[in-house]
Amino acid sequence: MQPFGEDFFLIFDVNLYCVLAYQSTPLVEINDPAFAAAGIRVVLKREDLNHPHVSGNKWWKLKYNIEKVLQHPSRTLLTFGGAYSNHLYATAAACHELGLRSIGVVRGEEHPLLNDTLQFVKDQGMQLHYVSRESYRHKTEADFIDALENEFGAFVLVPEGGSNEEAVQGASEFAASLDQSFDYLCCPVGTGGTLAGLIRGYNSTKTILGFSVLKGAYGMVEEIRHWNPGKTNWQLITDYHFGGYAKSTPDLLQFIAQFKARHAVPLEPIYTGKMMSGIFDLTKQGFFKRGSTLLAIHTGGLQGK
Ligand SMILES: *Cc1c(COP(=O)(O)O)cnc(C)c1O
Repeated sequence: MQPFGEDFFLIFDVNLYCVLAYQSTPLVEINDPAFAAAGIRVVLKREDLNHPHVSGNKWWKLKYNIEKVLQHPSRTLLTFGGAYSNHLYATAAACHELGLRSIGVVRGEEHPLLNDTLQFVKDQGMQLHYVSRESYRHKTEADFIDALENEFGAFVLVPEGGSNEEAVQGASEFAASLDQSFDYLCCPVGTGGTLAGLIRGYNSTKTILGFSVLKGAYGMVEEIRHWNPGKTNWQLITDYHFGGYAKSTPDLLQFIAQFKARHAVPLEPIYTGKMMSGIFDLTKQGFFKRGSTLLAIHTGGLQGK
């Protein structure tokens, strides 16, 4: 096989038509004795480097949502998230860059001292609207949304985590821009929009592996199927949640530190660390046939780190 050099890949120049700034990102082969021993090659797409704030998969998930808001008379995007949401963070920055109004409905009470994520989104001009955990549960109901419209006027609504058809479309465009010859394409999974897009956009003779960071994310499988009717060349791996969303273990943190020391690539414990740890463990278990090639997507999440 040819080396995974930059020339080997088609250059897909998104700068020509996209609305958000975009930086091309490199492919980095992870030369690790564990992969050599198993006879596989693992390449990381450093998509975390595509934008300083709208990074990784969030850029692609927001692309068509942002285009929709640009065409909407309200020029306002309203979305939902927890106090540490990467989705809120990226959305606030994208709207700020394009002069769009953004409203963030935040789960939980307002604290006098904002955390780094909320301070950032506020500095980007996002209007914050706090709701109790109880009423946040009703966020997809018509009455709840009507009340938001009464308060804020018209807006384009983007669901929590940003996973809607527009997001899947954006992620699928990213997948289609990648070299299509890898046997496995891997990504971490929160709400599943990114995985759904990769399944839609990547070579359907290859296998797409999503590593769930949630405990018991089984309902998501239906949703991913709904976005990709008839496709079966994918799998949701559920063994590497490390206790659940935003939970971690000393082993996971040690793995991330070691990976950075050996390969000079930063990962974080919520998404990319869990995926990469899963890839190493599956490799050890002999999950990948000798000679297999893997492309893992570094989906970002490193803001403020
Ligand atoms: C949001 C996020 C994900 C999860 O994406 P989904 O489309 O919700 O599955 C994965 N990795 C990082 C770094 C993220 O910020």
